[in-house]
Formats: sequence, C-alpha cells, structure tokens
Amino acid sequence: MTQSDPHIVIVGAGQAGLQAAETLRSNAFDGRITLLGNEPHPPYHRPPLSKAWLTDELNPGQLSIRDVSVLERKNIDFRAGVRVSAIDIEDRSVLLHGGDRLAYTGLMLATGATPRRLPHNGAAGDAIRVLRSREDADRIALGLKDCAERELPLIVIGGGFIGLEIAASARKLGIAVTVLEAAPRLLERAFTRELSDWYAQLHLSHGAHLVFDARIASIDATSDGATTIQLADGRSFVAGLAVAGIGVRPNDELAQAAGIACDNGILVDDCGCTSAPNIVAAGDCTVRRLSDGTLLRLESVQNAVEQGRAAALALLGTRKPFVATPWFWSDQYDIKLQIAGLSRGADSHVVRGDMTGHSFSIFHFRAGRLIAVDSINAAKDHMLARQIIGGEVSPTVEQVNDPSFNLATLRAK
Ligand SMILES: Cc1cc2nc3c(=O)[nH]c(=O)nc-3n(C[C@H](O)[C@H](O)[C@H](O)COP(=O)(O)OP(=O)(O)OC[C@H]3O[C@@H](n4cnc5c(N)ncnc54)[C@H](O)[C@@H]3O)c2cc1C
Repeated sequence: MTQSDPHIVIVGAGQAGLQAAETLRSNAFDGRITLLGNEPHPPYHRPPLSKAWLTDELNPGQLSIRDVSVLERKNIDFRAGVRVSAIDIEDRSVLLHGGDRLAYTGLMLATGATPRRLPHNGAAGDAIRVLRSREDADRIALGLKDCAERELPLIVIGGGFIGLEIAASARKLGIAVTVLEAAPRLLERAFTRELSDWYAQLHLSHGAHLVFDARIASIDATSDGATTIQLADGRSFVAGLAVAGIGVRPNDELAQAAGIACDNGILVDDCGCTSAPNIVAAGDCTVRRLSDGTLLRLESVQNAVEQGRAAALALLGTRKPFVATPWFWSDQYDIKLQIAGLSRGADSHVVRGDMTGHSFSIFHFRAGRLIAVDSINAAKDHMLARQIIGGEVSPTVEQVNDPSFNLATLRAK
C-alpha cells in the first residue's frame, strides 16, 4: 500500500471510534476507513444501560448512536463482531482474530475499558454481575425481573456512579436494594463529604439500604440461584442479584504488546498521539500526562467524543489540542448531577443554592480560582461553569457566596 492509498483502521466501535470515523469524513478524508468492533452491535450509547434501559424506558433504536445505513452512506466500512488481536507496528498492520491481516496507513485505538471484578473466583465469583455492554445490561435486567418475582433484593457492591444508578433503577422497579460500600461514604473520591451525605440521604429516602466500611469476606452461590455475601464484620446478605460497580481497567493490552507507551492506559498527548508513529488513541483506554506531571484518565462520553475528534485530526496532520473543560453527568431517581471541571486539589468549596432542596451547585476553588462545579438539577449553573472554568476571569469565593451576584457577567465575551 502506498500513501496514495490511505487506509485508516479504527479499533473499537464505541463512542470514540465512531467520532473519529465521522471526523475523518467530515474533514475531507476520502481514503478507506475501517471501523472494527468486537461487539455484535453498531455503536450504541452506554450511559442509558444503568438507567432507562434497566427500567425498560428505552427502545433499542434509542440506544443506537448511528445506524449501519448512515455509516454505509459515509463510506465507513463498519465491521461488527471483529476482534483485533495484535498490532504489527513494523509492518503497519493489525491482526484480526481468525488470522486475517489489515494494513493501515493510520491506526486509531479506541478500545474502551473493562469492569474490574472482585477477587472472589469460581462459580460464586461469576454470580457477581458487572455492567459495561448491552449484553451485561440485558442479563442484569433479567436478574432484576427475577428479584421482583421472587421478592429477593439486589445487592450492589460499590457506591460509585454506576452502582448507584443501578440501585436507583432497581428502586424505581420496586426492588429492595442494599449498597455495600468499602469506604466510609459514597463517591468518596469524587464528592465533598456534604455531597456524599446528600446522596446517601437521597438513596435512603427512596428506600435503599446503605452499608459503609463493608469489607467482603466471601461470596457463595446458593443452590436456588441466590447469592450470599458475607462481610468481614460477620454480617451476611442474601441477594437475588448481585452487581459490582468497582471501577474499570483501561483496555490497553494491544498497545502494551506492541510496545506503545502505557501507564494504566495508553499514554496520549493532548491531540491523542501515542508514542508510536501514525497511531493515535482516544476514550476510556487512554491516559494523559498533565502539565503538572500527574496522570489523568477520564471515563466520560465528552472525553471520548472530544478526544476521538482530536485524534482523528492528528491522523490527518492537524494538531488541534483538546483543552475543553471536562464534564460528566449522572442520573439517579429524579436527580441530574452535572459536573464541570476537576475538583481534585480543591481547597475551598461554596454551596450556591439550597442543599435542603433539590437544586443547588457546589463550587470548588483552588488557590482562589474556580476549578470545578457540581450541579444538582441546576443545568444553568453547569452550562455557565463550562464556559468560565479555565477562562481568564474566575469568580471569587465572595462572588459565588453572594446570591445576588450574576455569574454570567464573567463569561468570556
Ligand atoms: C453503564 C454505564 C453508564 C455510563 N454512564 C455515563 C454517564 O452518565 N455519563 C458519562 O459521561 N459517561 C458515562 N459512562 C461512560 C461512557 O459511556 C464511556 O466513557 C464511553 O462510552 C467511552 O467510550 P469509548 O469509545 O472510549 O469506549 P467504549 O464505548 O467502551 O467502546 C470501546 C469498544 O471497543 C471494543 N473493543 C475493545 N477491544 C477490542 C478489540 N481488540 N478489537 C475490536 N474491538 C474492541 C469494545 O468492545 C467496545 O465496543 C457510562 C458507562 C457505562 C458502562
């Protein structure tokens, strides 16, 4: 193959891979694009899998991000059910499971992440479900149905975003729920103590049972299909369904095996370039080194989309660093949480609005500058935060504390 016969291969047909393919086309790339995904579906939205999909409020059409017919029209060669098993950097080709080889002139890795599993193996270990794919969600939905029929509870291991969303969905279905959290509070790394407590209260008010400092000693599958979870302090819980939401590990094995630099994720710069020539990466499989030397790994739709776009442009020779303020959302019951920015390292926090109600925002400051805002049913605060965080002018703690101060005046003109 010559450079006059360009062929970009994208490994992973999720949010980042699809974005990259479409960015290539909308930026006048008229060579071949092959989008390889090892799942049996065209690209689909993962966020509803823990939310509306579990409560049966969404049809398959609404889960899909892009129809195959649209991909065909854009001349994107999408192949479902195809797993890439190796990258040959010297030869500029990828090896497909089954033995075929595909040559590339540019390669994008968008392989996502895999849920971590508990270190309890064997049949009982398998009884603990995880949630990443549509198949995982369908199995959990079936398990919830079974819980409802047999009046058995759901046990969620891990009070993080995905676990709490599954818990909220199950409560919506009227299923008894217990959340076992190893830390002393919910979402300890993401939230201030007061927001953790507020979320705990939210779940308690919907009838969920929360257990903190929960150390799992053993998990046993019982003969009637239930699961018994024993804690180190002697307490034991019987579940009709047990689901673990204890984080993910980035799918960086292909890159590692090919000698591409990784550090708990494929290392990329702010344009998505990896340590290997003509190979970029984007989405949950990546990690970025920030200017202060720390590593940042984001698992969000926004990161996958914007990094996918930047990485595709980099393959076309255009370096357009993606510097947007990170944002994320989570839906639990009737509460929409929206986070703008990164609150790690914050040294002060200001609540704007009323935390006894269902609409307020927490503003996080570091050295007097606004670095992040967590908004609860406060979409306007969130949109504003995305515009002013990282901008030239930061509101002061006093301004945020003053309900009569109009923060919109700080928006870049
Ligand atoms: C249940 C759930 C709820 C979520 N909720 C939210 C939310 O509310 N808000 C938010 O911002 N984010 C949310 N997220 C996170 C968000 O969905 C992810 O950050 C985003 O999907 C990442 O996109 P990606 O393209 O990097 O990875 P993925 O979407 O995971 O796509 C990667 C694809 O690559 C495939 N693949 C892997 N290895 C290979 C291989 N060797 N060959 C071929 N294909 C391969 C995988 O099977 C997968 O299909 C949620 C995620 C989950 C699972």
